[in-house]
Amino acid sequence: MAEISISIGGGKKIDPKYDIAIIGAGSAGLTAALYAGRARVNHILIEKTPIPGGQIVNTEKVENYPGFPEPVGGFELVDYFRKQAEKFEANIITANVNRLTKNRNGFSIETDEGNILAKAVVIASGASPRKIGIDGEGKFIGRGISFCATCDAALYKGKTVAVIGGGDAAIEEAMFLTKFAQKVYIIHRRDELRATKILQERAFANEKIEFVLSYVPQEVLGDEFVEGIKILSRKDNSIKVLKVDGIFVYIGIIPNTDFIEIDEIKFDDRGFIITDTEMRTNIDGVFAAGDVRSKFLRQVSTAVGDGATAEFAAEKFIE
Ligand code: NAP
Repeated sequence: MAEISISIGGGKKIDPKYDIAIIGAGSAGLTAALYAGRARVNHILIEKTPIPGGQIVNTEKVENYPGFPEPVGGFELVDYFRKQAEKFEANIITANVNRLTKNRNGFSIETDEGNILAKAVVIASGASPRKIGIDGEGKFIGRGISFCATCDAALYKGKTVAVIGGGDAAIEEAMFLTKFAQKVYIIHRRDELRATKILQERAFANEKIEFVLSYVPQEVLGDEFVEGIKILSRKDNSIKVLKVDGIFVYIGIIPNTDFIEIDEIKFDDRGFIITDTEMRTNIDGVFAAGDVRSKFLRQVSTAVGDGATAEFAAEKFIE
């Protein structure tokens, strides 16, 4: 490949060759960049959005990240991560990664801003919200269906909304929505929630929340905007329609791996990248960290550990 110089973000000159390229500036990627900066490794962190942070940016408050006895805003926390990484000269650019391929000397990362070569890659591209896949969902995204309560809750002041899901994200975001909406249904497919007990206790105690358990969504109803949701009882197959103005979907995540074009790389049965405890994938020089990898617990606290380990392992690989 020809030597190129990429100009990004107000004329920032980027050398297209690096020892370590980190893909994604969520909690894991920013931690990897902090470690790379402090180790004075020739690195680059590529983030597709001008605002780094990944999914945590969509979280109103984080209360289980150690060091913050009072809840810290997701956006605020990630901003601390970024500032700390930049203090140690983390090299962050904004560019969308279209392809990651392996070549004879390392890896090629095709971005909207040009190609980058790296000897090692840390994939920290995170995950995206899973869609429900029912009639009307596509039509009403942005017209009453949302995947981000932090972004859109204020639009539902005094209104009725439904949250789909029974995990941590669904319960946390339903609680947040009660600050605005007059009523929040939580529609969950089982009669037991998956969320952490302390979150469950709070939600059960919240008078604005009504649980609709053992129901699955069937169809989103409405003309121009969401007006209701049709749901099916898993107990007796009866159908019910809830009148709602908005629907917030929190039914899990899917890994952001579309850009990976290295055939031999191993994924688990849900499409998350398999690593060992040092964040090494089965491909020499490729590491994965954070939500994109197959793991037991997805939290900010585990993502930062992954990011640190992956960067350190990548350094050792290069040495
Ligand atoms: P999750 O833990 O995977 O929960 C997804 C929920 O959606 C489950 O209750 C699941 O039901 C339900 N679901 C899945 N597919 C469905 C479908 N097709 N139709 C209806 N319901 C469906 O996902 P998450 O809550 O988005 O959280 C993702 C990760 O981030 C988790 O590891 C979570 O612990 C973490 N997180 C942590 C915090 C925190 O620590 N404060 C906050 C947010 C997220 P079943 O229960 O029946 O499987």
